[in-house]
Amino acid sequence: MAPSAKIQLNDKEVEVPTGIFINNEWHYAADSSTFEVLNPANGQVITSVAHGKSEDVDKAVSAARKAFKTTWGKNVGPEERASLLLKLADLMERDQQLLAEIESVNGGKGVRIARDLDIGDTIGCLRYYAGWAGKVHGETIETAPKTKLAYTLLEPLGVAGQVIPWNYPIGMWGWKVAPALAAGCSIVMKPSELTPLSALYLCKLIKEAGYPAGAVNLVPGFGQTAGAAIASHMDIDKVAFTGSVMTGRKIMEAAAKSNLKKVTLELGGKSPVLVFPSADLEEAANWAALGCFFNSGQDCTAGSRLLVHEEVHDKFIEILVAKAKACAIGNPLDEATSFGPLISSAQRDKVLSYVDSGVSEGAKVATGGKKWKAENGGFYVEPTVLTGCKPSMQCVREEIFGPVMSVMTFRSEEEALEMANDSIYGLAAGVFTGNAKQAMRVSGELSAGTVWVNQYNVLSNAVPFGGVRQSGIGRELGLAGIKEYLSTKSVHHNV
Ligand code: NAD
Repeated sequence: MAPSAKIQLNDKEVEVPTGIFINNEWHYAADSSTFEVLNPANGQVITSVAHGKSEDVDKAVSAARKAFKTTWGKNVGPEERASLLLKLADLMERDQQLLAEIESVNGGKGVRIARDLDIGDTIGCLRYYAGWAGKVHGETIETAPKTKLAYTLLEPLGVAGQVIPWNYPIGMWGWKVAPALAAGCSIVMKPSELTPLSALYLCKLIKEAGYPAGAVNLVPGFGQTAGAAIASHMDIDKVAFTGSVMTGRKIMEAAAKSNLKKVTLELGGKSPVLVFPSADLEEAANWAALGCFFNSGQDCTAGSRLLVHEEVHDKFIEILVAKAKACAIGNPLDEATSFGPLISSAQRDKVLSYVDSGVSEGAKVATGGKKWKAENGGFYVEPTVLTGCKPSMQCVREEIFGPVMSVMTFRSEEEALEMANDSIYGLAAGVFTGNAKQAMRVSGELSAGTVWVNQYNVLSNAVPFGGVRQSGIGRELGLAGIKEYLSTKSVHHNV
């Protein structure tokens, strides 16, 4: 019997897969071990899932390699790769509500946000990359006119290992799976041990869509077990990782020490948001609150360092605090909830310890700063604004990954830029100003992979995303995203 379990969603129980997905079939872990998966809104165990380890990863890689050589990879034309992605997108749309409830129960996201944004955007991502499947190709190059001709072929890299985090389990699944499958790579993925349930359900849809056995394989497990086995595997051609800087370093080291596989890393951030006096303060506060409190602050691009011109500081903080207090905190399965719990008690405690350290270093709590009392327990932290912060404080320098905004003031554009760029990270930044020239100037000077002007956290499947400095290597989304799964072969002809 295939490993599966009944889990309770909003108003019904559903059967979900809980095994390892290899060759379009479900398996128990080779050593039969499992691990528990919790609901962060109440701390209760939802179910147990197969705990994959290196032996399971080996089987998944063999399946992926075989598929790549025989029924997938260069054996399948671009139209078919596109049509499979479109079919998968349609199936996700059919099951959108069910998937949203799974994501909500396992990840603590408001169900409406999971359904309409996370899953809605992922469906869009699959369709977007279906469009690229047949449109990325090489070129012909005349090397000696009339006698010699060279051309390039863009070929799928082979077997892609993909390791994803818990903050956007479906979103990060889509950013990885869609370009890899459009390019023709086969996949061995490991979801986060905290949020494996949606990726497991999506394997059912992969099979139903008609993907050949072995094209997509999923090994749930922990970083030190399944994750490390992927990063160090000798027969994986590329590893795509999203997660923390610390793990990114380990992945790169393992890749370097094994077969020098290609590596793309989407890592953390400590993104600055700059508010100049000419900005529309009401609008800027809306975006700043969304930028820091969306997904309860568990967002790699969270605008967690707010730099406000001293002239408008007091007014701006007053508006911002009102927005923070208005966040719709509650049960994630409630349609009205936009702000759910943090993923774990450890994450909640870590976030609160940053508030304590900020206060001990001289910051003031303008709002929040405490656990939010949920009826049934749960790992909630109130949306928090810390004012009077200084660039040297721990809460300003380190990624908190929770709903905590550290506010500092500046007097000039130069000072704002210096403070904004004073970070090991460079994932994103926001600029709020009514002056178009200033917007151009400042966005040009910010060290960030993405700069938002008079908005924040707005992504498009067509626009590349990634970091500079220690926020990552490589790009996802857009044309750049599919190219990370392709290799250029140059062919020289003597005619
Ligand atoms: P994490 O680094 O702890 O874990 C991410 C994934 O890596 C998980 O699946 C985990 O099991 C696995 N892992 C852990 N140790 C490993 C190892 N030694 N070898 C291989 N895999 C290993 O990160 P997290 O706590 O799940 O996610 C939060 C982090 O992710 C934050 O730093 C956040 O900024 C970052 N993030 C970045 C982006 C982006 O696009 N830049 C997006 C989302 C999250």
